[in-house]
Amino acid sequence: MAYLGNPAYTMAVLEKHGFRFQKKYGQNFLIDTHILEKIIGAANITKDDFVIEIGPGIGTMTQYLCEAAREVVAVEIDTNLLPVLDDTLKDYDNVTVINEDILKVDINALVNEKNGGRPAKVVANLPYYITTPIIMGLFESHVPIESITIMVQKEVADRMQVGPGTKDYGALSLAVQYYSKPEVICTVSPACFVPQPKVESTVIKLTKYDKPPVEISDESFMFKVIRASFNQRRKTLANGLSNSGELNVPKENIIATIEKLGYPASVRGETFTLEEFAAFSQALLETL
Ligand code: SAM
Repeated sequence: MAYLGNPAYTMAVLEKHGFRFQKKYGQNFLIDTHILEKIIGAANITKDDFVIEIGPGIGTMTQYLCEAAREVVAVEIDTNLLPVLDDTLKDYDNVTVINEDILKVDINALVNEKNGGRPAKVVANLPYYITTPIIMGLFESHVPIESITIMVQKEVADRMQVGPGTKDYGALSLAVQYYSKPEVICTVSPACFVPQPKVESTVIKLTKYDKPPVEISDESFMFKVIRASFNQRRKTLANGLSNSGELNVPKENIIATIEKLGYPASVRGETFTLEEFAAFSQALLETL
């Protein structure tokens, strides 16, 4: 039986193993069973599912996942947590703990090995210091994933859902909305964690699209255009893109594309919707 969400048990496990929190790893452990049940419910896990958990901590959510899923792989960077996880997960034979930095794990190989290449579900109370690289990595590497149900800092969840005209709009918003349908599950107060973080959190579910909502023949090119546009927010689109180290497109082509699509020369990329970024990137590609 999953038991760890209870604060008293969590404190007892931490004490038993003399565990010391490491701030650099973003360790804020969940101690609220209602929130755990909401996450597991939203992730919609069945006995058919292969689940990847990023950062199991002392195994609180892992216990719930083991009970709901066919198989779980939990990737934890902190070696000090291995004996704790050995202890808290000893009753489950459908879990493997990998002691590694999630950014270094070959998730494609993992999903092939454990799930015959069929899409996995990712569930995590993410370490907040690397939320964006983890999400971008999962999307851009085209790992077979059905959904990502994650706890993130509330501001990051806000950024994932907004459109042009707000200061929160950026490359993360566009990547999330290109690859997935975001849905907020609940907000979570700092009191639901030990130690308490300084910020509010949000559980958000990103359900991957089979087919993205816009068409572009080279999506990595579009994301270079997007990153270049937001790297230099105060610059015009023409200057932002021609100054970009990763894009390498002659300024004449950029100016010609802006004119062809009927935008003023002063247009800024940050005003573009996802559809506009796709249409602009496609037109720019066709000049090359
Ligand atoms: N899942 C646990 C829970 O909900 O109580 C712990 C969540 S805590 C916010 C984040 C966890 O991710 C910690 O256990 C931390 O050590 C781990 N972590 C941090 N950076 C990581 C990385 N790069 N790769 C894998 N795990 C990481």
